[in-house]
Amino acid sequence: MRKGAMAPRARRRQHAVVTGGAGFVGSHLCAALIRRAMAVTCVDDFSSGEPANIAQLAGKPGFRLVEADLVKHGALAALRDTDIDVVFLLASPASPADYLRRPIETLEVGSAGTVHALDLAQSAGARFVLASTSEVYGDPQQHPQRADYWGNVNPVGPRSVYDEAKRFAEALTAAYRRSRGANTAIARIFNTYGPRMRPRDGRMIPTFVMEALAGQPLTVAGDGSQTRSVCYVDDVIEGLVALADSTLPGPVNLGGTAELTVEQVARDVLRLTGASSGIRFVGLPEDDPQRRRPDTALAERELGWRPRTEWDAGRGRTIQWLKACDEAHNRAEAVGQAGASPAGTPAQAS
Ligand code: NAD
Repeated sequence: MRKGAMAPRARRRQHAVVTGGAGFVGSHLCAALIRRAMAVTCVDDFSSGEPANIAQLAGKPGFRLVEADLVKHGALAALRDTDIDVVFLLASPASPADYLRRPIETLEVGSAGTVHALDLAQSAGARFVLASTSEVYGDPQQHPQRADYWGNVNPVGPRSVYDEAKRFAEALTAAYRRSRGANTAIARIFNTYGPRMRPRDGRMIPTFVMEALAGQPLTVAGDGSQTRSVCYVDDVIEGLVALADSTLPGPVNLGGTAELTVEQVARDVLRLTGASSGIRFVGLPEDDPQRRRPDTALAERELGWRPRTEWDAGRGRTIQWLKACDEAHNRAEAVGQAGASPAGTPAQAS
């Protein structure tokens, strides 16, 4: 990592703490940091993460797992007084299915959990990187969304548990920087997709793919004309690492810049899976954003970052992953073990 950003110390392997490291994005981040020859401590309570996601890292030099709930007092006690260069805060329910099922836990990790991670980073003199979200913009009235946009969030709607948890986490991060001189950064991540997404986590792409594989009509909310921008996970990881490497406080948007309608994503999934089940249009959920696309000018200018993986390239790899999950699930079901891995993920994620 670049000098000055994370205050590297002489001849010591750099050490990153990745909270939420057993999740979809976190496991890719752990793997990328290990590839950079860093020591990585993954902190996770496996509430939505999967042991299979980090199975390939166990035994790699420098990798360590701490199973802990970040919200609990003393969760990070094992890391006190260790040399740490960067703390990434990714621990949080992230899919609508998860945060609607665990609303209070979502708010707790955005508040108490964020305090614990910030305290750890500050006491170690480490850089702190918050994985925030485009959801802080709510149903945006500015398009595309610039990183200095304040957003349009319903503070008491069903999605508010996630949106406001992240907004509070951002406020905490900014306050630690302003009042305590902490070395912090905020990344606002937009819809991310790729291998290791859980097939049944309720997000748009896995839901469409699983419906197509099951021969069911794809469920599209509203008339499908609402837009999303999607970003391949490897690009998001590059952005997070570049942000950690820099001295930029953010907030900075990390997301795909091509805008796709939800119906277009559904039609692509139908075509690529060869499904003929068609589309079923249903009512829009409450507070569903109509348009989403990041303005990534800040990331391009300050981090030299831009998404590189086109939807055409990333979607095939993702469908392949989800197909493998489906096959693993069906095999387990056939031998009466379905449910042993709730997500039906292949045993060894790659
Ligand atoms: P995920 O659910 O796959 O990963 C979250 C991880 O955090 C899981 O491994 C889970 O077990 C862990 N976790 C949750 N609460 C915890 C707690 N209290 N203590 C310890 N571990 C805990 O989700 P993801 O998609 O990988 O998202 C990772 C982060 O990125 C989240 O903070 C999310 O808000 C943010 N983000 C993701 C996306 C996306 O599209 N995937 C978009 C915007 C922001």
